[in-house]
Amino acid sequence: MGETKEFKAESKRLLEMMINSIYTHKEIFLRELISNASDAMDKLYFKSMSDGNGEAVTRSDMEIKLDAQKDARTLTISDNGIGMTAEELENNLGTIAQSGSLAFKKENENAEDVDIIGQFGVGFYSAFMVAKKVTVISKAYDSDKAFMWQSEGVDGYTISEAEKDGHGTTITLEIKDNTDEENYDEFLTPYKIKELVRKYSDYIRYPIKMDVEHERLREGTGVDGKEPEYDKEIVTETLNSMIPVWKKSKSELKDEDYNQFYKDKFYDYSDPLLHIHTKTEGAATYSALLYVPSKAPYDYYTKSFEKGLQLYSGGVMIMEKCGDLLPDYFSFVKGLVDSEDLSLNISREMLQHDRQLKVIAKSIEKSIKNELKKLQKNDRAKYEKFFETFGTQIKYGIYESYGMNKDELSDLLMFKTSNGGMTTLEEYVSRMKDGQQYIYFASGSSVSRIESLPQTELVRDKGFEILYLTDHVDEFCLQMMHDYDGKEYKSVSADDLELGSEEENKEIQKEQDDNKALFDFMTEKLSGKVKAVKLSHRLKNHPVCITSEGNLSVEMEKVLSAMPNGEGAKAEKVLEINPNHAIFEKLKSLFENDKDKAAEYAEILYDQALLIEGMPIEDPVGFSNKVCKFLA
Ligand code: ADP
Repeated sequence: MGETKEFKAESKRLLEMMINSIYTHKEIFLRELISNASDAMDKLYFKSMSDGNGEAVTRSDMEIKLDAQKDARTLTISDNGIGMTAEELENNLGTIAQSGSLAFKKENENAEDVDIIGQFGVGFYSAFMVAKKVTVISKAYDSDKAFMWQSEGVDGYTISEAEKDGHGTTITLEIKDNTDEENYDEFLTPYKIKELVRKYSDYIRYPIKMDVEHERLREGTGVDGKEPEYDKEIVTETLNSMIPVWKKSKSELKDEDYNQFYKDKFYDYSDPLLHIHTKTEGAATYSALLYVPSKAPYDYYTKSFEKGLQLYSGGVMIMEKCGDLLPDYFSFVKGLVDSEDLSLNISREMLQHDRQLKVIAKSIEKSIKNELKKLQKNDRAKYEKFFETFGTQIKYGIYESYGMNKDELSDLLMFKTSNGGMTTLEEYVSRMKDGQQYIYFASGSSVSRIESLPQTELVRDKGFEILYLTDHVDEFCLQMMHDYDGKEYKSVSADDLELGSEEENKEIQKEQDDNKALFDFMTEKLSGKVKAVKLSHRLKNHPVCITSEGNLSVEMEKVLSAMPNGEGAKAEKVLEINPNHAIFEKLKSLFENDKDKAAEYAEILYDQALLIEGMPIEDPVGFSNKVCKFLA
């Protein structure tokens, strides 16, 4: 045993901090140690290439081995990389925040085909989050002496001579005992180890191998009524897939490859609807592999859903869900981004809110939008399926940003239309008739309900196409957008529809003025419910309808009042009466001869209009009684 050397005082504190607070997940220790092993092999590869004896070491011989011994409570990570001399052990592992890898990277800036990961000089110590004792035995390449570094944490470390076959490093962790809060045992189980490798280190370019015990049915048993018996056998498994699919060129990959990768990686049973594979250089250098799922995840519309893309740096996963990479309106997109340009913070778990990430996010947003537009153009049926699944999200994106994103998003929108099927706004506008000023829309819970709305009659009769808004957010979204291509949206229920000829309008106005007393009377009887009672310019066959003045439509009131705290939202309603309907004559005569009855008529007509609109009536029993009175 060599003499025990103390960590320098500040190192002690630093180590304590390391062990207790830098990382939020203890499990990343394995990622850090595997990354170090990968670095060590990259360095050896580079060294042998630059020494000109490239044949002495071949990359294909290099591997990382994991070994878990449950009874001894040890987990060992070995590599046959460049190894460390006694002096290097001292410098690299005895000094926290000393990174031999960073120094290497700086010295060999133009080293090709090596992806050195280390840079902070702290990752190694994450081992102490799970281990009570760490033993490192290392033999440097080109040296015939091996050394052992050993430490139980803050109190210091020892370095002594040791025995080791071949160059490289073996790190043995003596895993801590379970506590009430922490299950350390799991780091000794093949299941957990495999999971961690797949999660964080799947794309390390060297194989990560582990001997795993399998049970095999002994031949001749388990058949013909014989009890099954099993033999144990040890199989060496390679735990990582090594080659990042997204680094391959597109021409090498078929749809099936992309789909399979998606299903494996994102635990979906169905193929994705769309994949987007991009490699970008310039302002931001990154590769991305993005997917639009074919179905919304089961928790998509719950609070627990978290948007985000996986973030890799140099093939190592540093963040499982980076929310900053996706705008909310594309929150359904799954996938990953790999970039070497990111400035990582010391724990490599979070990124500093860096500029680069923002540039990447912008660029990703653009490619998603472009690919969706392409799909809309080239495969309409698929796009409509997409929109049915995720369109609401995009509409919310416009609504929630007060229309600020409308230029980005309005071309992705689709609406049902009186022409049948779905339409984009661009298509609608291209079909607008000469002199048509507005993009007309009508709201309701379903197409058939909307089609039976009295308000749609006249607009359709004039030959104008109507967008059918069946989604709650639709009308809010249109209101936020205000216009498309300079064409304003207009509800068929708006009070200023301006569709009649001047002559017709004059006639109705005259009729209205002549019967002012009747309308004032009805308005008073319906006070608190409607703002006004008027003769209608738009009704053809129906007796009455409800329209609204101002920004809040009847449909919006319906949506808002279904929301918590939304009861106060009230549309300014107008009861419109069809001047050509027999009911109008009846009202006039009742107003002359029987005011009480006229008042009852007003109430019934108002309730009827609400029913047609799909709105609840305030007093259903009262309504029913009134109707019965007339029926009896
Ligand atoms: P980083 O990897 O960020 O540099 P670490 O604390 O993980 O920081 O490691 C410190 C240094 O120790 C590394 O830079 C490297 O020089 C050396 N080192 C760690 N693990 C190994 C290994 N398996 N083989 C060779 N050198 C290693």
